[in-house]
Amino acid sequence: MLVRVPPDYVLRQTWPSLVDFLTKLGGISPVPGGYVSSWYRDVEANRRANGHPHSSHRVGLAVDYVCDSKWHPELIEQGRALGLIVVRYATHLHFQALPAGGAIAQFPHLFA
Ligand SMILES: [Zn+2]
Repeated sequence: MLVRVPPDYVLRQTWPSLVDFLTKLGGISPVPGGYVSSWYRDVEANRRANGHPHSSHRVGLAVDYVCDSKWHPELIEQGRALGLIVVRYATHLHFQALPAGGAIAQFPHLFA
């Protein structure tokens, strides 16, 4: 799957939050074979991914990371220690900056 970078208009509006999010992500140790499978999603990409309509991926404040599940406990612990919300799925770990509903509450115009 193509990993999309947030477009200019999203970057301009989310910049301080995005920098904070990426800085926290940078505190997580990469693991062998691990890779980011999803970052920013426009409406269509979010629909195809079966994402929640108010997903943080819509504003670039969520990342999905695929790796061997043996690494999951360690990465979940690291992410949470950095203040991130981490959700474990069968196929990946989802890291996000804001609690559920936080993205649309903070950036409602980006969901319009
Ligand atoms: Zn995700």
